[in-house]
Amino acid sequence: MDLFDLTGKVAIVTGGNGGIGLGMARGLKAAGAEVVVSGRNVAKGEAAAVSLGGYFIAADVTGKAACDALVTETVARLGRLDVLVNNAGTSVRKAPQDLSEAEWHHVIDTNLTSAFLCSQAAYFAMREAGGGKIINIGSMMSLFGTPFAAAYGASKGGIVQLTLSQAAAWAKDNIQVNAVLPGWIETELTEGAKAQVPGLNEAVLARTPAGRWGHPDDLAGIAVFLAARASDYVTGTAIPCDGGFSSRG
Ligand code: NDP
Repeated sequence: MDLFDLTGKVAIVTGGNGGIGLGMARGLKAAGAEVVVSGRNVAKGEAAAVSLGGYFIAADVTGKAACDALVTETVARLGRLDVLVNNAGTSVRKAPQDLSEAEWHHVIDTNLTSAFLCSQAAYFAMREAGGGKIINIGSMMSLFGTPFAAAYGASKGGIVQLTLSQAAAWAKDNIQVNAVLPGWIETELTEGAKAQVPGLNEAVLARTPAGRWGHPDDLAGIAVFLAARASDYVTGTAIPCDGGFSSRG
C-alpha cells in the first residue's frame, strides 16, 4: 500500500482558491484526493476549481454557520470528509499601538477562530468516518515577533496551541492534527507585505538559507504527508516549511 496515496479521500482547503492553499490543494489532488477549495471570492474559487479538477464551495469561515455548512455540503456532495486544511488567512500590518479593535478581531477571527470552527465541524464528520487529518497553517510568526504583526502573530501563535489541544483531544478518534509553518512564500498576501514593508524582500532573501522566496507548490509535499497514512503516528507537531528561515538567528 502506498503511504502517500490519497485515492478515495476527500479534502477541504479553506482559502484554497489561491496562494498557498491552492498549492497544497494541487498536491492533495495529485496524490489522488477529491479536493474542495473554499473562499469568499466566487469567481476566483470557480477558476481555481476548474484549474485543479476539483470543487468550489463558497464560505466566509469567520462564522460558525458557514463553517458547519462547508463541511455539511462537502459530505453531501462527496460522501465523506478525511482531510481539513485550515489555511484561510489575512493580515493588517500596523504597529500594535495603531491597530484598531476591529482590525484585531478581523485578523483573529479570520486566522484563528476559523480554524477552531472548521475543525469543530470537521471533527464530527471525521469521527463518524473513523478518523481524519487536520492541517492548521501557522507562520514564522508562530515563532518570532515582528513590529507590524501583533494580531497576526497572536493568531499564528494561537494556531500552534490550538493544534496541540486538538491533537491531544482527538488522537483517540484517530484524528491527527498538525500545524505547518510556512516561511516567506510569494502570494497576494506577501505582495502586499513587500509593498508595505521597506526592505522586506532583501531581508527575506538574506535570512532564507535556500536563497529564494517559496512558491505555493513548495507546500504541496508537506500537505500530502500530513494528509496521508504516512503521518498516522505524527500528531501535535508544528513543522516549518521555510527554506531554512527558522534555522537561523
Ligand atoms: P492569500 O492572500 O493568497 O490567500 C488567502 C486566502 O484566504 C484566500 O484564498 C482568501 O480567499 C482566503 N480568505 C481570507 N479571508 C477569508 C475568510 N474570511 N473566509 C474564507 N476565506 C478567506 O495568502 P497566502 O496564500 O499567502 O496565505 C495562506 C495562509 O498561509 C494564511 O493563513 C497565511 O497567514 C499563511 N502564511 C502565508 C505566508 C506567506 O509568506 N505567503 C507565510 C506564512 C503563513 P477569499 O479572498 O476568496 O476569501
